[in-house]
Amino acid sequence: MKLYDVIVVGGGPVGSHLAYRLAGMGHSVVVVEQKERQGEAVCCTGIISQECVNSFAIDESVIFRQVNSARVFSPSGKLIGLRRQQPQACIVDRAAFNTALANRARESGVEYALNSRAGNIEVNNAGVRVEVACQGETGFFAARAAVIATGFSSKLAEKLGLGKVGDFVMGAQVEVATNGLDEVEVYLGRQIAPRFFAWLVPTSPKKALVGLLSRHPPGSYLRQLISSLLTQGKIASAQAEISYGGVPLKPLSKTYHDRLIVVGTAAGQVKPTTGGGIYYGLLCADIAANTLHRALKTNSLSARSLASYERDWERKLGQELKISYRARKFYERLNDTQIDRIFDIIKSQSIDEALLKDDALSFDWHGGIVLRLIKHQVLSRTSKVLKLPFSSMGNG
Ligand SMILES: Cc1cc2nc3c(=O)[nH]c(=O)nc-3n(C[C@H](O)[C@H](O)[C@H](O)COP(=O)(O)OP(=O)(O)OC[C@H]3O[C@@H](n4cnc5c(N)ncnc54)[C@H](O)[C@@H]3O)c2cc1C
Repeated sequence: MKLYDVIVVGGGPVGSHLAYRLAGMGHSVVVVEQKERQGEAVCCTGIISQECVNSFAIDESVIFRQVNSARVFSPSGKLIGLRRQQPQACIVDRAAFNTALANRARESGVEYALNSRAGNIEVNNAGVRVEVACQGETGFFAARAAVIATGFSSKLAEKLGLGKVGDFVMGAQVEVATNGLDEVEVYLGRQIAPRFFAWLVPTSPKKALVGLLSRHPPGSYLRQLISSLLTQGKIASAQAEISYGGVPLKPLSKTYHDRLIVVGTAAGQVKPTTGGGIYYGLLCADIAANTLHRALKTNSLSARSLASYERDWERKLGQELKISYRARKFYERLNDTQIDRIFDIIKSQSIDEALLKDDALSFDWHGGIVLRLIKHQVLSRTSKVLKLPFSSMGNG
């Protein structure tokens, strides 16, 4: 049996990017992916920041469009329009994005085993053995180290004693036909997407994605939203089956083990405010690649030696994830009337305009703006009137 340096389980964006980085550092890598083909549909809207596109040299060919504005609707339909001069984000074709990252990895020498589902990972002093089911047959891959990059639902990390993600929500999404729609729309409200939000995101000229994340099973809420958007004439028809996916809101308690690292959505490296996981996953894939490169070179692959991966990614994202999670819990406590009231205050005091001019307002980094809002006089006064635990978010 061939002994690879690293087996990456999961050929999503994070697994493929990590494999690409490791191959570029001279390591032999195989990606084990359960899907039959790379370009299969993915339950994801594919919005990533301009910062992400630039940092990871995302190929223009996978970008549907750039985004510099969004229309956010309160539960009763009040509107806040957000617009900046420069593009803030891009919408990527998620299936093509996966293929492009996998092709880049292949060109650097990474091997792909498609249609191969990893069922078990065995770690011992000599290396790692991954048991794989492929077309009814069981096979094995062996390596010096392994990476779990399996996204949301796999139990592989839990089986190795690394625990489960601390909190999560479920999402649903469908592709729809539109009569030509230019702007991203976001909908808030307990009847629309309980304790999270819903979206209508234009992709190609006459197509869009409608979806939502929610604390309650999302399917029936999505069907209601589709029928409301049809009635409003915003969409022409729903074109495909609804797809479902989960999003972790808190990281795994431990993301490393002897000879093994967990990365991306499998590790819970996701923005708790929006559920976006592509950029944080790619950032952590870079950190994982650097850690593994050092460990492979010095043959020091013990958990103790790989612990620096967790320290490094927590240094980069830990504080951001904590503040954003608290902001999420705060938002979840608001009822529809309170959200509407906050919209009124934001508009009447032009807080939206002030925020748009504030450099702390970033597509990816929400901690700074959350702390700024806590200190905002008008909002902290409002929170007292509405009896909201707003300012307590800044503590600890
Ligand atoms: C409705 C919805 C909308 C979203 N919208 C956005 C968005 O707009 N922007 C954003 O940044 N994020 C978004 N996300 C989150 C985003 O999809 C994930 O964070 C991102 O896909 C994480 O990439 P990943 O490579 O870690 O995992 P994944 O993309 O899930 O890839 C994991 C791969 O591992 C494979 N796999 C799993 N188990 C096994 C196994 N046992 N053996 C072999 N292969 C296996 C899977 O088939 C998959 O290909 C959304 C999520 C949902 C649910």
